[in-house]
Amino acid sequence: MSDVIAAPAQVRVPVRGGGTFPVRRIFCVGRNFADHAKEMGAAVPASKAERGLPVFFTKPADAIVVDGVVPYPPGTNELHHEVELVVALGADAPPGPLPTADAMDLVFGYAVGLDLTRRDLQSAAKAKGLPWDTGKAFDHSAPIGAILPAADVGTLAPRALSLTVNGAQRQRSTLDQLIWDVPEILHELSLLFALKAGDLVFMGTPAGVGPLQVGDTFEARLDDVLAASGRIAPPHASR
Ligand code: MN
Repeated sequence: MSDVIAAPAQVRVPVRGGGTFPVRRIFCVGRNFADHAKEMGAAVPASKAERGLPVFFTKPADAIVVDGVVPYPPGTNELHHEVELVVALGADAPPGPLPTADAMDLVFGYAVGLDLTRRDLQSAAKAKGLPWDTGKAFDHSAPIGAILPAADVGTLAPRALSLTVNGAQRQRSTLDQLIWDVPEILHELSLLFALKAGDLVFMGTPAGVGPLQVGDTFEARLDDVLAASGRIAPPHASR
């Protein structure tokens, strides 16, 4: 049997040092830095014991942007940046819950990216208890830099995630401020999904989220180890 339409193109992210990483799914973590949860008006857990369950949502794989050119999306007047660490899975999880002690075995590498958000639509959905898809899972909503193998990134916790817009710093936090670290998030995801090679996980953003306008340039970094840069381009023609 042959396909009755052209098969969708496989989305791929460049790997520093050579090769490409084919993307399967994109999971995202909400409210994973206390200072960002606070700025969004959400409850901040007083301790790890009181953190409850992580918030997950998804984006389609083809929301990925690898050339840095992000057209301003239709349907919003409030496009927000959220700089995030991105985890790239290089192996399938075994069936069943993934112990945190085994979670790092799945990690191929890391990148930095932006979880771009139509904040006006997300806020309206939140207020009505409706899904976040139009606010989060839109075209071009996941610009990302090259993936670096985990061994070349080293220990995450002391490293600082940051974002500049037009050269001015907007967001910065060290990764020891994550409410749920990478093994904990992979464990929690494994209770809900069969994690597979090719899956990406956007780990959540620190405080300082804010608007982007056409013409703005951005640069996300993890110290001098990972980077992603780009710009907001004029919108495509829309109704
Ligand atoms: Mn986010």
